[in-house]
Amino acid sequence: MAEITALRKYPCPECGGDAEWNAAKQALVCPYCGTILPWKSGEDTLGATIRETDLAEALRSAGPETRDWRFEKREVKCQSCHAITVFEASRAAQSCEFCGSPSIVPVETDRDAITPSAVLPARLSEPQVRDRLRQWYASRIFAPNRFKKAALTDTLHGLYLPYWTFDAHVHATWTAMAGYVYVENVQRRGSDGRIVTVAERRVRWEPAAGELEHFFDDDPVPGTMGIELALLRKVEPFPTRGDELKPYEPAYVRGWVVERYQLDLRKAAEMNLAQMEAALRQLCAKQVPGDTQRDLQVQTQYQGRTFKHVLVPVWLVSYTYGPKNYQIVVNGYTGAIAGDRPISYVKVFFYVVLPTLIIIVLLLLSQQS
Ligand SMILES: [Zn+2]
Ligand SMILES: [Zn+2]
Repeated sequence: MAEITALRKYPCPECGGDAEWNAAKQALVCPYCGTILPWKSGEDTLGATIRETDLAEALRSAGPETRDWRFEKREVKCQSCHAITVFEASRAAQSCEFCGSPSIVPVETDRDAITPSAVLPARLSEPQVRDRLRQWYASRIFAPNRFKKAALTDTLHGLYLPYWTFDAHVHATWTAMAGYVYVENVQRRGSDGRIVTVAERRVRWEPAAGELEHFFDDDPVPGTMGIELALLRKVEPFPTRGDELKPYEPAYVRGWVVERYQLDLRKAAEMNLAQMEAALRQLCAKQVPGDTQRDLQVQTQYQGRTFKHVLVPVWLVSYTYGPKNYQIVVNGYTGAIAGDRPISYVKVFFYVVLPTLIIIVLLLLSQQS
């Protein structure tokens, strides 16, 4: 065990440089001489399979997972966006990887912080991401030129973000009032004094009840502070259910920056519970018979709640335009892109306002002549 948990370094056999995880080659590659290291996935795992950890047990005890990152690391916290970044000790940090702010301070690691059990290795390389960004930018005509430059120049960062994923088996029972619509013919006196028959819509209410079983598999809760949640939700999903996910090995994050989670397990578990309750309510609502419903009451019993802490890859463009910081996020596995879009008012003026004014003036002139 002592050897396995020893800090891993991956020196290049040719030049001794520190090898980095290369997304395009899916291998450890020396950034100095291009040598591909003879490393195979699975060499440095602590277990062949990705373990689900019992949630209740983990919340009771201080730290169920005592594994560390297995590389020598430093952590800095950004005082502007509050993201905590995990660096390799050899790497010098000048500014925040997420918002570009230079005000970063070293932080002490929590003794019992949970380290990732799995990682979704980055699949898209920097040139591939730049191509996609170029295409994405082309469809945004009112974006400022600086925005384009940011997508094309060197402000692209490859990062691993922390996610929690939760499993649970649920038994739900529900009660509700089910409404059945029917039509009743009633007799009314019309405005001319004659009796007429009109069809009126009525609802007959009947109590209803039922139950269902559901299994939640890898319900995701992001633990990041560095990326806007709304943007992140747009580039989800990150595939975490199949073979794509690998047991954590330090090789996958070599040369990449990793964000440490700040939404802790307890809070993430609460969010997961709220997500599951909302989903179950919808599932139960679908079971209620009749044409309409009210007073839906759902009782849930959870069994076998487990979690994983996983790292997922993103590429991030972060830049300042005016007083605001903007982010463009690219899913490092699927390539999905989402971004804040600043609008250049200069461009809007020249492309929209000015032509409109010219047309109005021309119209007025043509009417006068
Ligand atoms: Zn080398
Ligand atoms: Zn920051």
